[in-house]
Amino acid sequence: MHFSRFPRLHLAHLPTPLEKLDRLTEALGGPEIWIKRDDCTGMSTGGNKTRKLEFLMAEAVAEKADMVMTQGAIQSNHARQTAAFAAKLGMACHLLLENRTGSTDPNYTQNGNVLLDTLHGATHELRESGLDMHAEMETVAEQYRGRGKNVYVIPGGGSNPTGALGYANCALELVNQANERGLKIDHLVHATGSAGTQAGLVTGIKAINAGIPVLGIGVRAPKEAQENNVYQLSLATAKKLGCDGVVKREDVVANTDYVGEGYGLPAASTLEAIDMFAKLEAILLDPVYSGKGAAGLIDLIRKGHFRKDEKVVFLHTGGSAALFGYTTDLPKPG
Ligand SMILES: *Cc1c(COP(=O)(O)O)cnc(C)c1O
Repeated sequence: MHFSRFPRLHLAHLPTPLEKLDRLTEALGGPEIWIKRDDCTGMSTGGNKTRKLEFLMAEAVAEKADMVMTQGAIQSNHARQTAAFAAKLGMACHLLLENRTGSTDPNYTQNGNVLLDTLHGATHELRESGLDMHAEMETVAEQYRGRGKNVYVIPGGGSNPTGALGYANCALELVNQANERGLKIDHLVHATGSAGTQAGLVTGIKAINAGIPVLGIGVRAPKEAQENNVYQLSLATAKKLGCDGVVKREDVVANTDYVGEGYGLPAASTLEAIDMFAKLEAILLDPVYSGKGAAGLIDLIRKGHFRKDEKVVFLHTGGSAALFGYTTDLPKPG
């Protein structure tokens, strides 16, 4: 893997910190829990889409795009990070936001990530849930092209082989950090949605033969569909990186037991994870992704899934801006 072969804008704050979570480890009675702080990537409250957008937005610049479009749920962290990149690069940004949760709470529809999208100068239009959002986006992109815009379209979550390069690179970064401090990582756990993060991580880890199993905690799709999405994207990412064939189907593992009622609807275990990380480690999770990922981590620890002498790294994928869109689900002050 040689990432300099691909166009890239170095705008993320890298490397992100790798920290030990002593109080959470103690509260759960082991294994040793570490956190990779991709909530600290620096772009407009950070998050995992920033690593993908370093490669995606470099393509947009290479194609001389003057407008970027993407889609996601109303409280999409990906949409917000895309809006931030576009602002930084002086490009227009138009977002298609899907009301996947059906919420009409003004904090959900206007605060959190939506507030930041708007501050960065992005425009957006809403869609009811259940449409083919990719097709919707192509239609709208064509309308803008008809008006003379050179539109670069980014898939939901930035999850294509270009975006996944960001997480193959993160695998390299993490293993280097661990090697520098003599940390042997036994497991890597993180929230998985549109698949780019896990596909990139698995591809990177396999390509350098680091031998670290990756466990994705699902936030939307059933296990079989999620694993297949990740696997297909891993194959394409490995091909792009010139290491065809490194990823096997069994390298891709997702646990989708922590989705709860559905995408964007926090379960009791999500809220408990948010509470524990905030009170024990002063780390902000989110109600859609990292809260569910951490809920999986906590429950699997309680069930004895990891040995007590193992070291587990939780990749924090960001999303805390969404907390301000979910005030009704969170504890009231007082
Ligand atoms: C998008 C996102 C994820 C999931 O990453 P994918 O690459 O879409 O699987 C996890 N956590 C947060 C906070 C996200 O915004």
